[in-house]
Amino acid sequence: MTRVFSGVKPTGHLTLGNYLGAMRQWAAVDQHRADALFCIVDLHALTVDHDPARVRRLSRQAATLLLAAGLDPALCTVFVQSHVDEHARLSYVLECVATDGEMRRMIQYKEKAARERERGGSVRLSLLTYPVLMAADILVYGTDEVPVGDDQAQHVELTRDLAVRFNQRYGHTFVVPKATLPAVAARVMNLQDPTSKMGKSDDSGPGIVYLLDEPDVVRKKVMRAVTDSGREIVYDREERPGVTNLLEILAACTGGNPEALSGAYESYGSLKKDTAEAVVELLRPVQERHRALCADPGYVEGVLRDGAERARALARPTVDAAYRAIGL
Ligand code: ADP
Repeated sequence: MTRVFSGVKPTGHLTLGNYLGAMRQWAAVDQHRADALFCIVDLHALTVDHDPARVRRLSRQAATLLLAAGLDPALCTVFVQSHVDEHARLSYVLECVATDGEMRRMIQYKEKAARERERGGSVRLSLLTYPVLMAADILVYGTDEVPVGDDQAQHVELTRDLAVRFNQRYGHTFVVPKATLPAVAARVMNLQDPTSKMGKSDDSGPGIVYLLDEPDVVRKKVMRAVTDSGREIVYDREERPGVTNLLEILAACTGGNPEALSGAYESYGSLKKDTAEAVVELLRPVQERHRALCADPGYVEGVLRDGAERARALARPTVDAAYRAIGL
């Protein structure tokens, strides 16, 4: 059976981008067609300035939201990365295969490091090595496919490189995985700055729709989305990023085609209105299930405990094999 692995970082509240780019496919497709593991990758949340209590709180919230989004523990494995030591153990071995040059070339590293330096802060070494830990997250489960948004495609490419290099040097140990991207909304953009992605780790702002935003907050954010100069509704990522983003979101919510939808609208006002309502309807059942799950924290605890146990059992033989192969 195909093995699928993917994760979310508890660095902020989960967004519409996380949902449309990743979580929705996990729930609707991946957990049904594959042996799927979904992970709250809390070690990755320590790569930038963080508050310990907040990371812990956000990890729990992310787990609850993954279940609210429809992940079913009877069909897939949901767990927290730091509960399974094998990720960190394998990461070190992969650091001995990766080079500092390839780490420094990662787009996310360059962007996040530049932002950190602009703020006058220092860059944690773990920010540089983050993609190696991510490679370990994936390879430790013999993963075939990694369903992610477009922003993670480069990291999955690096994971492939490391797996191939390790296998060539030390003998076949790892399955070489590939990324699978959603057809629509692989990159949901910030509503106030449609040239940058809607990222939960960014400072909370009016351009980000969070999964737990109240309907009126969602409406306000979508109605205030920046649009481009020019009045007509055209699907064009380069020239018209604002309106294209709205068309993508609407299409992803309603199952339509963003280009075809562009012909159905004559004004920004009606496009925004329909998009806002589509997002509200999309989030409604997720928010309802989230409320119900919050009333039963013991259930979420139990899911994470069982998930970690299963994940550990799968991960251990891979780490043992990698240690043997590399000479330990
Ligand atoms: P974030 O950038 O929000 O911190 P994570 O690294 O936790 O995201 O990503 C969780 C999943 O959500 C990944 O598969 C990622 O590709 C996807 N994702 C994140 N932001 C977006 C977005 N704006 N559009 C589409 N997918 C996204």
